[in-house]
Amino acid sequence: MNGIPNILLTIDVEDWFHVENFKGCIPYSSWPSCELRVERNTHRLLDLFDEARVKRSGLSVRGAVVGFPNSLSCNMRSTPCTGIPEQGPEEKVRTTFFILGWVADRLPHLVREIQTRGHEVASHGYYHELCSGQSCRDLEKDLCDSKKLLEDTISGPVYGYRAPSFSVGDGILKTIEECGYLYDSSYNSFAMHDRYGRVNLSHNGAVGIAREIHPRFFELPISNLNLRKPFSSGQNRDHFVLPWGGGGYFRLTPGWIFMKGVEKILSEQGAYLFYMHPWEIDPEQPRVQGAPRFYRFRHYVNLGTTEKKLFGMVRHFFHCRFVTCRDYLEHVARTRSTG
Ligand SMILES: [Zn+2]
Repeated sequence: MNGIPNILLTIDVEDWFHVENFKGCIPYSSWPSCELRVERNTHRLLDLFDEARVKRSGLSVRGAVVGFPNSLSCNMRSTPCTGIPEQGPEEKVRTTFFILGWVADRLPHLVREIQTRGHEVASHGYYHELCSGQSCRDLEKDLCDSKKLLEDTISGPVYGYRAPSFSVGDGILKTIEECGYLYDSSYNSFAMHDRYGRVNLSHNGAVGIAREIHPRFFELPISNLNLRKPFSSGQNRDHFVLPWGGGGYFRLTPGWIFMKGVEKILSEQGAYLFYMHPWEIDPEQPRVQGAPRFYRFRHYVNLGTTEKKLFGMVRHFFHCRFVTCRDYLEHVARTRSTG
């Protein structure tokens, strides 16, 4: 499987009323009275991934996982213990769902379905509170409670975490690790967004597109485009970052341009990590009128075309392997250990 580019599709499973942009209009106390649409939208994504099975000439990968921490070895019920699952002429698109605890509490059957349909279940916290806005004790509770809830629901381990609005930081990473997660996927290198956290990964070793924070804890950053500035000079100031990891940027950018950017990332890094939300394929969702105009634009732009665009992206990259975060980490660690 060496040489085949990997695509890590990730879905943050939350509903239209959980988003940070609308927090001022939809307080937590009113969540229970909001129309729950996340189940239907998540089903549409699951069906899309099933329909978009990637056709590629046969390549079978089997064998024991070596060179990776035992705690990351496969013991989820839905897949045999083979690391990257067996691949055939027609491969399943496997993705990672970072599920909000509040959603998991109300829809445990959806969490189990995500797992039994071959995808990875990971945590998006419980209350969708920004990590950077919580006390250490509250954050610890949110991280541990959401992990335990998901693990009880699927009767298996949960390895990964994603912070709401990518609100991560060096100290927060330490807390995530202490709560028993084996990887975080919250770092977004695009510096122009006010909520995204900053992390210094310059001293951490690269394991594929992941960074090894500690021997048993990894950061899987959101993929972005690094472009060279025209007419620039100087080593550290000759590049700039364009947000290319998904979400609103995916909805806003014309599909063919977005694909070109992903192709560039894949050719340079061998892997691409994408994120989106179930509400991004739901143009019929209720409109929140009281929110600032820019927030509404950011949330509602191109909802009607995103599902088709996502399907097109998966088909466009038929030559790639669509893997879960955990499987990717196992793969790159195994590759490293075997040289
Ligand atoms: Zn979120």
